[in-house]
Amino acid sequence: MAARARLPAVFRAARPVIRTARRSYSTPPSSSSSSTWAPLLVGLGTGLALMYATIGFTSSETQDGKHKHLSVHNREGERFGARDDYRKAIAEIRALLPDDDVSTDETDREVHAANEWYYGAHQPPTAVVYPHTTEDVQAIVRVCAKYRVPVIPYGSGTSLEGHFSAPYGGVCVNLGRHMDKIIAVHAMDGDAVVQAGIGYETLNNALAQGGVGLFFPLDPGPNASVAGMLSTGCSGPNALRYGSARAEWFINVTAVLPDGSIVKTRQRAKKSSTGPDMTKLFIGAEGTLGVVTEVTLRLTPKQPTRVAVVSFPSVTHAVNAVVDVVNKGVNIQCAELLDSLFIQAANHLGIVPNPLPEKDTLFFKLLGTDAMMDESERLLREIAKQHSSIEMRMAHNDQESDALWAARKGALYAALSHSGYETPMLYGNDPCVPLSALPEFVAECQKEMKEKGVYGPIVAHIADGTVHSTIIMRDRSEIPMVDDLVKSFVSKAIALDGTCSGEHGVGATKKKFLPSELGDGTCGMLRTIKDALDPLGIMNPGKLYPDEPDAPGHDANWAPPPPACCT
Ligand SMILES: Cc1cc2nc3c(=O)[nH]c(=O)nc-3n(C[C@H](O)[C@H](O)[C@H](O)COP(=O)(O)OP(=O)(O)OC[C@H]3O[C@@H](n4cnc5c(N)ncnc54)[C@H](O)[C@@H]3O)c2cc1C
Repeated sequence: MAARARLPAVFRAARPVIRTARRSYSTPPSSSSSSTWAPLLVGLGTGLALMYATIGFTSSETQDGKHKHLSVHNREGERFGARDDYRKAIAEIRALLPDDDVSTDETDREVHAANEWYYGAHQPPTAVVYPHTTEDVQAIVRVCAKYRVPVIPYGSGTSLEGHFSAPYGGVCVNLGRHMDKIIAVHAMDGDAVVQAGIGYETLNNALAQGGVGLFFPLDPGPNASVAGMLSTGCSGPNALRYGSARAEWFINVTAVLPDGSIVKTRQRAKKSSTGPDMTKLFIGAEGTLGVVTEVTLRLTPKQPTRVAVVSFPSVTHAVNAVVDVVNKGVNIQCAELLDSLFIQAANHLGIVPNPLPEKDTLFFKLLGTDAMMDESERLLREIAKQHSSIEMRMAHNDQESDALWAARKGALYAALSHSGYETPMLYGNDPCVPLSALPEFVAECQKEMKEKGVYGPIVAHIADGTVHSTIIMRDRSEIPMVDDLVKSFVSKAIALDGTCSGEHGVGATKKKFLPSELGDGTCGMLRTIKDALDPLGIMNPGKLYPDEPDAPGHDANWAPPPPACCT
């Protein structure tokens, strides 16, 4: 099942509103038998034909008219199997797994089409399967290759860019149900071997309970799976100290390739200089090159932290302070910027013990022994003062740290609630720019949002330059306007030598930005690798590659095509 964000009690009031918002726009077709197809097709009629032309689908009917089906075509001709092929594939997979582990249940399929954080167009897979072993995955992929049925790997379902939607139907391979075990922890070597579906929080809790004293420090959405994390190239607030998924946190990847072969990219040794790094090939590949089944992770000592909160007159003052904090070697784990709008929202919701000054504010976690943190606090006070800080609050134990961090942790829910909209919808985005360009970038985003009357408080993982304009929409009608706004943010970020995505990845929604960001040469390399490993194009189609037939993205008028198959 998809991991759902669990709200602290204080935010529960906002929850039904978020859910209602999604229900109002999320209407994927729920065909579970062929009988439901006919009226749907008739009803959609000409509109669909037009849509297919637009998004690269082709209505296909054999010349003798013996079987009528819709299948997906690419430029070269027919690409995926016909409806019958999908049926045969699912029947063969049923023979491989226990009954409960192959589902064509409508609710199950819909849960695997999108999560509540992604409002864009989405499409359920034809079936959801829950393998137990790498060999199960291998057998599933072989069947799918035989019938040219898409395979959509799935971890915890917290990704934000339509990553696991199934625009052409297919088999969603969910590793979170059974393939979530810790295989071995080598405390002496500082690594753990895990099955790919384990959530990082589950892993870290187990390490803490086992008294290992080590943890896996990447921290994206709630209990994201390690395979999802490596596949999206994730990071989070801890990136300042520990880097992103692209640092060497993933040592080995065991994966099933699109032809069903199994590869292990490396041994367990921490270093290896044997050729290009094949582990890295899977980082950020978004399930398009294979299904990751096992991972060897590097672990690191878990150190105590204390929270400090410092308010500044402007984003520029805050950025300059962070540059000094980092360059003077103050021992910190994270530095998060919440702009004045966010602080207003947090104060309004009462999630900080005493209201904070409604100014651009930095949230730090200092780390180390008590003596180290005392020294860091001294340095931080000095630097903050030099950069005209307005106020600094410092926690001196875990309880005080939690209380102060609550504003950062609850920022999104505070903004949703403070927007005052009846059914607020979040439009997430995560451009990233060099730190020196961050004040200019933030100022321009704020200016544009103000001009358009958009409520969009800003939170930034400030030291690495990732900026989230937390755009809260009144309703779905605002999507086209916000689409344009975000396009403009991304253009600015790229012009500033930045990227369309600092951490969420590309998915279905950002592949259009890749040519301008990476250039034709690099996009061509991406495509060459994809075609070499996945000549049938069955692995998570419609994502990442700019020259894929255009899978549905943020289009308010888009209606999903009928699924490529039924049960
Ligand atoms: C509230 C919230 C906060 C978030 N904050 C952050 C943040 O701070 N930083 C950040 O980076 N992200 C953040 N995210 C996004 C999300 O948590 C990350 O993208 C995460 O890495 C996704 O992991 P997952 O297991 O949920 O992957 P899924 O959503 O299940 O899948 C993501 C992608 O990985 C592929 N994949 C999954 N499993 C496999 C596998 N076994 N083999 C091959 N491919 C696979 C899928 O096909 C898909 O393309 C946030 C999300 C939420 C909801």
